[in-house]
Amino acid sequence: MPELPEVESVRRKLSRWTTGARLVSAVASDRRIVRGSLSAFAKLEGRTFRSFERRGKWLRIGFGENQYLYSHLGMTGDWELEGEERFERARFEIVKKKKKNVLRYTDPRRWGVLALAGEDFPPWAALGPDPLHDGIDIDRLEKKLSVRAKKSVKEVIMEQKVLAGIGNIQAIESLWKAHIHPKRKAASIEHEEVVALVKAIEWSIARTLADLELGDAGKDNPFKIYGNAGRPCPRCKTILQRFELGGRTTTACATCQPLAKVKPSRTKPSAKRAKTSAPQRRRSRR
Ligand SMILES: [Zn+2]
Repeated sequence: MPELPEVESVRRKLSRWTTGARLVSAVASDRRIVRGSLSAFAKLEGRTFRSFERRGKWLRIGFGENQYLYSHLGMTGDWELEGEERFERARFEIVKKKKKNVLRYTDPRRWGVLALAGEDFPPWAALGPDPLHDGIDIDRLEKKLSVRAKKSVKEVIMEQKVLAGIGNIQAIESLWKAHIHPKRKAASIEHEEVVALVKAIEWSIARTLADLELGDAGKDNPFKIYGNAGRPCPRCKTILQRFELGGRTTTACATCQPLAKVKPSRTKPSAKRAKTSAPQRRRSRR
């Protein structure tokens, strides 16, 4: 299912293909995908592609005069230049620099959404900050986690009002990177863990995007632990676990993402001494 990086990659290719292109015809053919009337698409004819925005998993294509086409890729949606007619759900004949082309929205499973609207489209307006576009405010995220006492940290970071664009894959990858078990209660996440989580989300999005830019070269599973349950953790070699959480299949490493937060133990005095000795040495040298 496309998440922030996949949708951003679609936004970039759409912008490359159609910036400045004029729409000769616009035909939407699928009632299940289109919100509003199919015939309204004819209003776009003669207009020019002007802007390509993304917030979370939503795309917004601007045609000027408060006319926007909103697109959510659902599970299998994509935008293609030329390409096959087979799963075509909307078709746009375009002209760019005197060259004619067909831009298609394709969607085999038909869980996507296309909507024509002005600037104030409720699903877009309801989204929280986008990690790539707006950055992640550590204090805000910490507050959002702290007030959700009963929910797991994974479920909270996947709420689109909390962070727009984080789905199952990015959540699994970033929680692993931050050494946080997905089942940990959101309110139990401490400040330094939120800081680590923010860095981990940025890391995960950046490396997925970089991989997508490689195209076919990046076709093998590019993820550290997503889809790798039953295989060894790339960090500590423990076999990765698979379980359900909030209705989603989740992967985690029980060793480097402990479910109970490990507190400095009194039964291991040697480890404690080792931890405190470094700053003491630094202090004595000053
Ligand atoms: Zn591990």
